[in-house]
Amino acid sequence: MDFSGQVAVVTGAANGIGRATTLAFAARGAKVVAVDRDGAGAEKLAQEIREKGGTALAVAADVTKSADVARYVKAAVDAYGQIDCFFNNAGIEGKVMPIAEYDEAVFDAVIGVNLRGVFLGLRHVLPVMIAKGRGAIVNTASVAGITGTPGLAPYVASKHGVIGLTKSVSGEVARQGIRVNAVCPGPVDTRMIHSIEAMINPGDAEAVSARYQSSIPMGRYATVDEIASTVLFLCSEFASGITGAQYVVDGGRTATGGAATTVGSPRN
Ligand code: NAD
Repeated sequence: MDFSGQVAVVTGAANGIGRATTLAFAARGAKVVAVDRDGAGAEKLAQEIREKGGTALAVAADVTKSADVARYVKAAVDAYGQIDCFFNNAGIEGKVMPIAEYDEAVFDAVIGVNLRGVFLGLRHVLPVMIAKGRGAIVNTASVAGITGTPGLAPYVASKHGVIGLTKSVSGEVARQGIRVNAVCPGPVDTRMIHSIEAMINPGDAEAVSARYQSSIPMGRYATVDEIASTVLFLCSEFASGITGAQYVVDGGRTATGGAATTVGSPRN
């Protein structure tokens, strides 16, 4: 896949999936705009890309704030003239807690980043793509956008919302040359999954991790690079017929309901 001459904007770029995807776009020739509320982290990543000979700009922005979103879009257009690929990815996990006890402010924060942030990204990036008559967007949903997870209801609700936005908006812009898809990672080896493990059992997060990974047919969490590859595929010409889709990258867990360890697994 070659993204030479193209501009890719990534939110949540300073860490985890966003960082790996920004690096992958840059390695394949894209000019990248790394957006994160952790401005120092985004700048460090942009510097790393420039040192390797790539072209990168960092923007410190909070995706929940309309003015910040307008600012990162303007920075991308001012620097590079267009946005070809947009990875609408920043997200937070909130707390692991039953809804009967869930903190209202944390609910608002989860919906604010994961759903409002994705909406604002679409709201501000789409006019730039519509003006050019081309573009590819990938929103980060999750397998939590497809199935429920007791204890993580606000996160699950936000990710179901991301899939709703993706399906609906894909139809609004399909004839304007723009594709909008969602990537649905299962657990990925980043800070976020380790935070969830620790909230489930603060005394033994390792045991939660082992149990969770053994319920995945592939027997392990996905890597950030596996998610990045899927995002690049969905932004590439190889996916020219794909829009409004949800791509699950979860080692087979959703397909099997986590039951693959009963038959045919080397763990038996
Ligand atoms: P991470 O915590 O490693 O990275 C998230 C990045 O988003 C951080 O750099 C953080 O600073 C940034 N961010 C958070 N809130 C922001 C805001 N308001 N404005 C701008 N930036 C903000 O997490 P990750 O695992 O890389 O998660 C990336 C995306 O993948 C999220 O949407 C997450 O829900 C989703 N996801 C993760 C997993 C997993 O298991 N790790 C699984 C499915 C989906």
